[in-house]
Amino acid sequence: MAEPSDKINLLDLDRAGLHALFIELGEKGFRADQLMKWVYHDGVDDFDAMTNFSKVLRARLNERCEVRLPTIEADQPSRDGTRKWLLRLSDGNAVEMVYIPDGERATLCVSSQAGCSLNCSFCSTARQGFNRNLTAGEMIAQLVVAQRRVGLPENRGERVLTNVVLMGMGEPLLNMEAVLPAMNIMQDDLAFGISKRRVTLSTAGVVPGIDRLLQEGGGVSLAVSLHAPDDALRDALVPINKKYPIAELMAACRRYIDDKPHRAITFEYVMLDGVNDTPKHARKLIAVLEGIPSKVNLIPFNPFPNSPYRTSTPEALARFQEILIRSGLSTMVRKTRGEDIDAACGQLAGKVLDRTRRSARHAGADIRSVS
Ligand code: SAH
Repeated sequence: MAEPSDKINLLDLDRAGLHALFIELGEKGFRADQLMKWVYHDGVDDFDAMTNFSKVLRARLNERCEVRLPTIEADQPSRDGTRKWLLRLSDGNAVEMVYIPDGERATLCVSSQAGCSLNCSFCSTARQGFNRNLTAGEMIAQLVVAQRRVGLPENRGERVLTNVVLMGMGEPLLNMEAVLPAMNIMQDDLAFGISKRRVTLSTAGVVPGIDRLLQEGGGVSLAVSLHAPDDALRDALVPINKKYPIAELMAACRRYIDDKPHRAITFEYVMLDGVNDTPKHARKLIAVLEGIPSKVNLIPFNPFPNSPYRTSTPEALARFQEILIRSGLSTMVRKTRGEDIDAACGQLAGKVLDRTRRSARHAGADIRSVS
């Protein structure tokens, strides 16, 4: 594990933050723009190689700042082109991210927390519990690693990522302080230049977070993990529903989308055999979404070891989709990608982390018993 560093991680700062930093360093603000180009466009993190900076500035940057990247612990390609990385952060925590190429589009599924506190009953990340929030820099590092691994340096200057979804491990709306600047960097032309519509934040339904996103999120796309059309069932599947029940969640969705003409909210709905996939559930779902510009994304349940559910049958899935479509709801079945490498929705579990922790505990016990 790397030594903890007290240097400023430049990946934590969006353009406004970097401008302020350079002013504090006694420099002109536009140096921040140059720095962003070096790091994000040219893939250069070594301050000494930043030839348009003075020697004095380079020395100052070396002394106080760094571009902190995780170590890549695993890099797994899937047969379908999907690729999953396990990243080890400087404090030993690990997170996973998934790269999903699809024709012209290439989406990175980014984690926002190490573990998750929400305990959804069908999600494997929930099994590892909550470790901590990621910093903005740790989210941005995921894009940097993917971009460099997939594109740079062979592909200099070309944009590798067209879309980002905050749909990996964690609940992004419980980590707003870091998610907001990270989303700025994703959209900044001096960094990744991804348009706001192509940055999607997915939430299990943290109502105050949706309202804050409306105020401060700059119009990114919103996805809501609904998964059940009534409170009794949703309480069981997505326990945060007990705090923010469906009616409140839908009201927040209306507020979010009201000032955005031609936009819709994506509602994710995991298809669990015999649990939430009957025609009755479909009809209730139609009623819940009434009046909200919506796209429904049906996600076949992705099983993981000891999970209590089965995926809906193809017939149940088709019938459910058909009922929604007939009511006028745009409804897609999400293609399952990266199944052979456990990279599909809800399978990001940081397995290696769990093993490492167990062995670290054992090692600690051994040392104590010897001393
Ligand atoms: N906390 C956020 C983002 C992470 S989950 C949220 O809840 O939206 C990303 C998506 O994968 C969510 O829709 C989640 O409900 C879904 N998901 C979780 N486990 C799954 C599984 N085993 N099979 C299919 N989808 C799953």
